[in-house]
Amino acid sequence: ATPMSIMTGTGKGAQNGILVKNAEALETFEKVDTIVVDKTGTLTEGRPELVMVEPAQGIDESEMLRLVGAAEIGSEHPLAEAIVKGARARGHKFAAASDFSSVTGEGIEASVGKRRVAIGNAKMMRRVGAYDPIMADAAETARAKGRTVMFVAIDGKPAGLIGVADPIKPTSARAIGRLHAAGIRVVMLTGDSEATARAVANEVGIDEVHADVSPADKNRIVGELKAAGKTVAMAGDGINDAPALAAADVGVAMGTGTDVAIESAGMTLVRGDLEGLAQAHRLSSATMRNIR
Ligand code: ADP
Ligand code: MG
Repeated sequence: ATPMSIMTGTGKGAQNGILVKNAEALETFEKVDTIVVDKTGTLTEGRPELVMVEPAQGIDESEMLRLVGAAEIGSEHPLAEAIVKGARARGHKFAAASDFSSVTGEGIEASVGKRRVAIGNAKMMRRVGAYDPIMADAAETARAKGRTVMFVAIDGKPAGLIGVADPIKPTSARAIGRLHAAGIRVVMLTGDSEATARAVANEVGIDEVHADVSPADKNRIVGELKAAGKTVAMAGDGINDAPALAAADVGVAMGTGTDVAIESAGMTLVRGDLEGLAQAHRLSSATMRNIR
């Protein structure tokens, strides 16, 4: 590619909120036939709100929210922010937590006073020996509405459910429609559960969903698509997306996302919405046409 055309393309991109870090990303995008998108913070706003607090029998709701809020202060995950904000809005104040640990894509653990609190998905509950099938059933029901539902364990025992709702970005469905019209297959990858992922996928028109995937799985799935001969772009916002962003033929970070994601990507969508993907595809075609 001639440096001049690439510079022109890069400049046009910048005017439209598409920051091109690697010239190669701009060159490759026109050949992309598969786009892998993360759910939370990419298809959705990534600003979830606390909408459901269901303590298990014998657990006090206020106590549960205070412990969970105290523990989640240590996490930078958007889910954690939602929980802390929601608990504060309900008038709760938190004690200091200690011995915080987090497992990316699963959840967190911390000590609050004498209690050990864990919050996260089924994997996290299995990790702390507090997986409860009856609670898992209740979680599934709430997930069918597109909510993200997390389990809470206190001192290694199931203690309840916490649900957050993360609105879908108003541009997501249209963007997916444009990508489909350009003949591009769109695949959702998420660390969230199958039921929640399906509900969101149905709303935006994505038909291929991989749920409950770890950050390493995201990376692996991108690798498998490439091995199957696909040219793959990956769009994501989180620390958990960074390895997959780096592994894709074109990594596209949301400008609203984490620094780690932006560093791992060849391109950043400043506005942080997926309409930029369809634009980037057109920009790449136009740039390469200029060169040929
Ligand atoms: P996504 O791929 O949709 O961006 P993540 O991989 O970041 O999602 O998270 C996957 C799942 O792990 C979440 O749906 C949640 O159940 C759990 N999880 C991750 N971080 C936290 C946290 N700080 N508190 C509670 N649960 C968490
Ligand atoms: Mg995300």
